[in-house]
Amino acid sequence: MWGTIVGDMAGAPFEGGRPIKPGTALLTQGARFTDDTVLMVAYAKALADGQRDLGLAYRQAFARYPKAGFGGMFRRWAVDPSVEYSSYGNGSAMRVAPAAWVSKTLKETLEEARRSAMPTHSHPEGVRGAQAIAGATFMARDGANKAQIKDWVQSLGYDLSQDDPRAWTRRWFATCQATVPNAVRAFLQADGFEQAVDLGRRAGADADTIAAMSGAIAEAFWGVPQPLRAQASEHLDDWCRETMDGFEARWPQVRAA
Ligand SMILES: [Mg+2]
Repeated sequence: MWGTIVGDMAGAPFEGGRPIKPGTALLTQGARFTDDTVLMVAYAKALADGQRDLGLAYRQAFARYPKAGFGGMFRRWAVDPSVEYSSYGNGSAMRVAPAAWVSKTLKETLEEARRSAMPTHSHPEGVRGAQAIAGATFMARDGANKAQIKDWVQSLGYDLSQDDPRAWTRRWFATCQATVPNAVRAFLQADGFEQAVDLGRRAGADADTIAAMSGAIAEAFWGVPQPLRAQASEHLDDWCRETMDGFEARWPQVRAA
């Protein structure tokens, strides 16, 4: 979850495909939280509060942060309950990390990931993307190695055979199909948390969201370095920070990661 937040902040200044110079710090000038963090935190808050209506939780989060960077379809849905929304955009996968931290098994994680996706991303690709990121995150938490995580993600139908980050596209794609495999590849290629986030933000023009996803898996695999977590916390506002505190009080495994 801190991996999602750090990834979102690290990629935000480069969303749209702005080039990233080698050696650029993760939390560089312009680092800020966007819709990825807002919806992940909103989902975490709903879990902590026992609020079962996740659609309402997402709408309330939009009302609180209307300028956080939400996509056009999401904005229309958020203000008009009659709008039909069955997205395969990567919004379902960017916000899903809490599913992996509240679940005790992979099966439970996948059910929870589906539930988190359904209000906005009921398209099979939207659900699959959420399940891929949540499942990989749970497996990393649970002690799986990279080969096991790679095999499992591929078993969902994603092609992870393209191993050269230089070949990854910088074009604008914000679908689960295009970005979830790149986020998983960024994690698989990395030697540590920070590199997983850095490769994630370089793995497509939707830099904040891809880094949020690679960061979520990397957090469960390596943990988030404490100084980076503290720095990211300073970039949050009170609502997000207090929600994270409340979540970690109930699920302390997140604080320990
Ligand atoms: Mg964003």
